[in-house]
Amino acid sequence: MPDLGEKIKRLSMELTRIASIVGTTGEIRAAGYIYEYLKKVNYFVQNPGNLQLKDLKNDPLNRKYIMAFLEGKKTSPNTILLLGHIDTVGVDDYGDLKEYATEPEILKSMLSKKSFDEEIKSDLKSDNWIFSRGIFDMKTGVASQMVMLEEFSKHLEKLRGNLVFIGVPDEEGNSSGMLSAVQDLAELTKQKGWEFIAAIDTDYMTGQYAGDEKKYVYVGTVGKLLPCFYVYGKETHVGEAFSGLDANLLASELIKEIDLNYDLCDVAGGEATLPPISLHQRDLKAEYSVQTVNAVNLYFNFATHKSQPDEVLEKLKQKAIRAFDNTIKRLNENYKKYCELSGIPFKKLPWQSKVLTFEELYKNVKDEAGNEFEGKFEALIDELLKKGADDREFSLRVVQEVHKHYSDKNPMIIIYFAPPFYPHIFVEGESPREAKLLSAVEEAVEEARAKSKYDIVIKKFYPYISDLSYCGISRNEESIKKLVNNMPAWPKKYSLPVEAIQQINMPVLNIGPYGRDAHKLTERLSQSYSFDTMPFILEKTIERLLN
Ligand SMILES: [Zn+2]
Repeated sequence: MPDLGEKIKRLSMELTRIASIVGTTGEIRAAGYIYEYLKKVNYFVQNPGNLQLKDLKNDPLNRKYIMAFLEGKKTSPNTILLLGHIDTVGVDDYGDLKEYATEPEILKSMLSKKSFDEEIKSDLKSDNWIFSRGIFDMKTGVASQMVMLEEFSKHLEKLRGNLVFIGVPDEEGNSSGMLSAVQDLAELTKQKGWEFIAAIDTDYMTGQYAGDEKKYVYVGTVGKLLPCFYVYGKETHVGEAFSGLDANLLASELIKEIDLNYDLCDVAGGEATLPPISLHQRDLKAEYSVQTVNAVNLYFNFATHKSQPDEVLEKLKQKAIRAFDNTIKRLNENYKKYCELSGIPFKKLPWQSKVLTFEELYKNVKDEAGNEFEGKFEALIDELLKKGADDREFSLRVVQEVHKHYSDKNPMIIIYFAPPFYPHIFVEGESPREAKLLSAVEEAVEEARAKSKYDIVIKKFYPYISDLSYCGISRNEESIKKLVNNMPAWPKKYSLPVEAIQQINMPVLNIGPYGRDAHKLTERLSQSYSFDTMPFILEKTIERLLN
């Protein structure tokens, strides 16, 4: 193949100039541009049915995504998915330079007038770096996939199998582009009798610590859950403080048990996720009064490498029980001291630890109320849907409403999941398909190392949440059931096309361009590596997988 770097650069600059902020019509323009570009490629002129501009399912913005596929001359069911997102995050971070955010040439000189740290200053002076919103995350990645598709379309005789490209919007939002696409992909494989052997994303790649010059290729991806807690205490008047159980105290203990606790790192393939961290903690008392707080809501970002939702639920249940036990112990100790100081008789406080999952709460309430509760519950969901709350808020309200119907009014903690859910993909290399993928990547990277000056490292999990997650999901029905039954927003407010994802289940890769500061106003791409070595690794990996 000819040197593709220049071509990729030109195209990525073009794509960058089409501002396609998530949730705007720019996403439609970007999709249109890519469609028109590919339409001129000879292969798609000859095979117009293999290039499609498809509507997102149930999208109020009427956004579209591109699907294009090449069928190799050497027939084989083996198929590679190239996926990329065509949207970007917003541009408000550019402040007064907002209008130049997607004008790489102008932006650089404008940014040069502002003051930044030494590294950014030196990158602004260097010809190597291109600054712009989207150039790094991930217009360059999309451009390289388009150019690969075009090049491979000229050499179909060499291709044993098929190459499918999708360019999807809304990755920086709710992944609705990818979630629409997986359903069409499942349909396509059924129609054609194809099997996906790998998905290759070309999303951004950066150093893992200050001064890290290594380049990374990832096999597999991190996942994410949003476990939530509804902490229900016992209100009291501040004048009788010990006769209540302060939900704030219980929530604090919960944070202490969970927040950044290394015990909850999910370790697989020698790589650990970051431990969970709280994203929200709020008591649910609306007004000022001398009544103590009786309910608190909190949730955590929980990254996964190998644990399924049911396992995460169980781990967190244990943490919640511990937090509850600790709280009761602490209260009794303080109460005892207080009694001594006040000369009153001490009697152990009545609290007992109680932690339920949402599924258990629902079952208990249904057992008490009888089957008619199901109808009531459905009506309640519909009622809440009309109010149009955010997914997290909606989930909390469902939990609160079900809890209201429960006869047990003692303090308790209820654990549940709120959207979104991003499954992890762990490529262990045990199946022949995974082993082939690993050796293809290793060989391609080895060749790139020999040809270039870069220190390229293969790692197990792409560390940023992305659409790659929806290339696979557990086939364990019990595990999926535990997720669904503990996610109050499922299925009416939020759901995933589980069957379609199970059908396309494939190992994943990320071979990304190199840069710095994705999602910041100093977002920038390094031309070296991104326009030479990265496309080389991409091309060689595809060749090895479809030879
Ligand atoms: Zn991205």
